[in-house]
Amino acid sequence: MQPDIQTINLVRLSSGDNLALQIYKFRGKQPGKKIYIQANLHGAEIIGNAVIQGLLSWLASLSEEQLVGEIWLVPACNPMGMNQRSHFFSPGRYNSYDGKDWNRIFWAYHPQETELNRFVQDHLASSPETIYQNYQQQIEQSFQTEKERSNQPSGVPFSVRYQQTLQSLCLDADVVIDIHSSSNQGIDYLFTFPNQENSAQAFLLDVGFLVTEPEGYTFDEAFIKPWLLLEQTFAKFGRKIHFGLASWTLELGSGMNANSPSVEKGIKGIKNYLANQNAVQVSGFPLPETDNHSIDLVDKTQLKKYYAPTGGIIQNPLSLKRKVVAGDCFYQILQFNKEGTKPELISVPAEASGMIFDLGTNQAVNEGEYVLSVLEKRNQE
Ligand SMILES: [Zn+2]
Repeated sequence: MQPDIQTINLVRLSSGDNLALQIYKFRGKQPGKKIYIQANLHGAEIIGNAVIQGLLSWLASLSEEQLVGEIWLVPACNPMGMNQRSHFFSPGRYNSYDGKDWNRIFWAYHPQETELNRFVQDHLASSPETIYQNYQQQIEQSFQTEKERSNQPSGVPFSVRYQQTLQSLCLDADVVIDIHSSSNQGIDYLFTFPNQENSAQAFLLDVGFLVTEPEGYTFDEAFIKPWLLLEQTFAKFGRKIHFGLASWTLELGSGMNANSPSVEKGIKGIKNYLANQNAVQVSGFPLPETDNHSIDLVDKTQLKKYYAPTGGIIQNPLSLKRKVVAGDCFYQILQFNKEGTKPELISVPAEASGMIFDLGTNQAVNEGEYVLSVLEKRNQE
């Protein structure tokens, strides 16, 4: 099965060159879910492109009969961020025009409470299909109204134009998977939302953050938030309903790196998830280990960032995934001075027990600069 390949112009540069997106669309014989997978929204987080390449060649080896529904793949989904450089480094996390994080710019449909209550009351006896269609129509209309602003002579800033182009690709999707990584040295984990946790284990990762109250500015939240809101409102009126939509962010390994075992882990996890969702029918999938796999769903408040208490050079940091207990020294700072004395080695202890989750790449730190993150144990056990 070969994909349809579509290219969409994103922005014309002052030089006359165009930046564009390329979408690989695999369509199965049987109708089913639309699954949308993108990579590299943050400039340094290139790993998802290698994961998408793995998925692309795997899907190309399948027949149309083996795919149910459609799968869209968008590597290099943010050319502006991806191509940004400072010396050899990829700093593309923030839009250089306005300093905004590329993953805090998205638009979520958010009806007024009275409007939503009315919609739910009008649909209390409707079938899930009808509710889905009518609500989806409202989302698309509202999105369209927003989009019309960019066609006015006054236009909109590039980040809005970009946000609209990217979201227009997945507005009607059933599942969204956004592949990121740490900007530094990170472990593999995911972000998930209520009502979809049951399928989180299919990614075969060990840790997931459950976001119970999405704000809607990140790509994953913007997609799922309107549906969570609708489900919650139905629950308020006594009807339990789940539309089967899901949104995931996978965080795979380290920044500026596309060769680590995290690539293989990502490919394997997504294949297994697709099989678990019956989007693909491939012998051997879902993998037998899926049933026994358990993912530790944690809360964002358990993640503690450590910032350098003074400027200097990081020495002897404990390695990624290392377990620590409160009081353990997990790194030292070699502090220089201009006060006529020798450099000093300062130890920094862990405040609480946990696991080293993320490590800064740059071992030269100014006072107050990010050093590492620890995933603390719940309730400070
Ligand atoms: Zn990211």
